Order: sequence, then C-alpha cells, then structure tokens
Amino acid sequence: HEAKQQHDGFRHFSPHTGQDSTARLSLLGDLRRGLDDAGQFTLHYQAKIRLTDGSVTGVEALARWHHPVKGPVSPGQFVPVLETTSLIHRFTERVLTIALRQARIWLDAGHRVPVAVNVSTRSLLDETFPGRLAALLDSSGVPGDMLCVEITEYTVMSDPATTIAALHQIRALGVKTSIDDFGTGYSSLAYLKLLPVDELKIDRSFVADMVTDPSSRALVASAVDLAHNLGLTVVAEGVEDAPTAEALSQLDCDTAQGSFFARPVPADEVSLTRRPLPLTTS
Ligand code: C2E
Ligand code: MG
Ligand code: MG
Ligand code: MG
Repeated sequence: HEAKQQHDGFRHFSPHTGQDSTARLSLLGDLRRGLDDAGQFTLHYQAKIRLTDGSVTGVEALARWHHPVKGPVSPGQFVPVLETTSLIHRFTERVLTIALRQARIWLDAGHRVPVAVNVSTRSLLDETFPGRLAALLDSSGVPGDMLCVEITEYTVMSDPATTIAALHQIRALGVKTSIDDFGTGYSSLAYLKLLPVDELKIDRSFVADMVTDPSSRALVASAVDLAHNLGLTVVAEGVEDAPTAEALSQLDCDTAQGSFFARPVPADEVSLTRRPLPLTTS
C-alpha cells in the first residue's frame, strides 16, 4: 500500500542500492532548486462530499511538482525523498502558505470551506511545527477552523507521545485534525482513543473493492462504526463509482472523496456547490 510503500522506500534508501541512491541524490538536488523557484510547486484541491446531501464539507490540498525537465512528478515519488532531509520543512511551509492563501480567497468570496493539508511524519514530529503553524495562520488571517491537518497512522505509530502532544497544540489553534489512510497501520486501535482527532479517513485500498469483496466491506463498516463511536467524522477515500458511493451511504459513512465526485484540480476549477447525488434512497 501507498503509505507503507513510502515508508519502505525511505527505509531502503541505503548505500547497497547504489544506483537508486544516485537517482535520489539527483532528485534531491532538483527538489532543493525547485523549492527556490516560486512556480514549480503548486496545489490541486479535491472536494470532500457529504453523502447525505451532496454538499462540499471541505477540500484537500494535494501537492503537484512540475520538474523542469521530467515534467509532473507525483507526491508519492518526491515526498518520501524530501522526508530524508530537513528540506521537508521548507516544503511543508510552502504547502501551508499556498493552502492558507487559497482558503483566504475562498473565504473572501463567501465560501467557508476548510482546506486540509497533508503533513508528513518528520514535519509533524518537529517540535517547532505547532509554533510555525500558529505563525502561518496568524499572517494569513484565516481562522483556525478553516484548516485541517491530515497525518497518517504511520506518524502516530512512529512516535505516539510526540504525535499526541503535537495534535493537542494544533487543535488548541482551532485547527481540525484527521487520520489519513486509516486501516493501513497496525497499532491504530491502541492509540485511537488517545488521539485528539476530528476525522478518520478510510484508506482507498478498502474502499476500492468493498462492493465486490465482503471482507473489504466488513472492514469499511467496522471503521465507520469505530469512528462514530469515538465521535469522529468518517471519510471514504478513492470512491470511483456510483455503487461504491451507494454502499458507503448505506453504511452511514459521512463523507466521500474520489474521482466519482471530483478529481483533484487547480483552485479555479474547484466546484464548491452542492451536487445532486445519483444515489437511490433505501
Ligand atoms: P492521500 O493524502 O491519501 O491523497 C489521496 C490520493 O489519492 C491523491 O493522490 C489523490 O489524487 C488520489 N485519488 C483521489 N481520488 C482518487 C480515486 O478516485 N481513485 C484513485 N485511484 N486515486 C484517487 P496524490 O495526489 O498522488 O497524492 C498521493 C499521496 O501523496 C497523498 O495521499 C499524500 O499522502 C501525499 N501528499 C500529497 N500532497 C502532499 C503534501 O502536500 N504534503 C505531504 N506531506 N504529502 C502529500
Ligand atoms: Mg490526505
Ligand atoms: Mg489518504
Ligand atoms: Mg491514500
């Protein structure tokens, strides 16, 4: 799976894969130069849709890197490389700055649409992160509750105490918190009740085949119940068709994201209006 793959990629970044290291070092150089350039990194935004009425409950910011020679490089490829150095902090700061600027634009246009930003393990666990976040929020003039921080289960597992402390500080700013790719980690249940989070996002690997695979459906149903019993909002990722949207709706899943509703697009192409749901009522 994605989050796991990223983690594995990070781990296996060692001298015995000589060629791979060389490629990564060269990518790191390109990333460093890219971060000095104002235009190479942009954000796309993907709506989160409420399944009961088709309204947009928020948008998720997804980083896009346009490499000057290679063209588009996906975040799944470059974020794990950034994570190997402190460059990740500059990247996180860049993403937050762009996302908050966009949240301000939407607010000024009368849209109260919270923007979710993915924050990597190394950035979240940096002790200066909550303070930096407070400063960025302050200078953006965006209220805390118009921002959501998405972290993965992997971050929680790698350092539960620091994660919990950071999430408390982030929430004290009014910022919402979310656990991304839920179900792909292993010790989540032990920590879930201790985590100051508002939202749980079920990983798309379970959502993708929930209509055809009864065990995936059972996992999604359990995650929805677990989230609700803990008072959290639940989001299903990667919804690609109507039968999946309908199945999620039947399981009382609150919100969904995926190509069936909206793909990640540049800010000016995001539709924030309620959309008709092609779901049959049961
Ligand atoms: P994620 O946060 O779980 O984001 C969801 C990924 O699924 C996105 O891939 C999105 O484009 C993709 N997706 C959305 N709908 C569908 C669908 O219906 N079907 C399928 N197959 N995929 C769908 P993307 O944009 O390539 O990002 C991949 C991962 O990279 C993200 O997973 C997140 O972990 C990371 N990432 C993206 N932007 C950032 C960022 O700004 N900072 C950090 N630290 N990580 C980021
Ligand atoms: Mg995410
Ligand atoms: Mg996710
Ligand atoms: Mg995912």
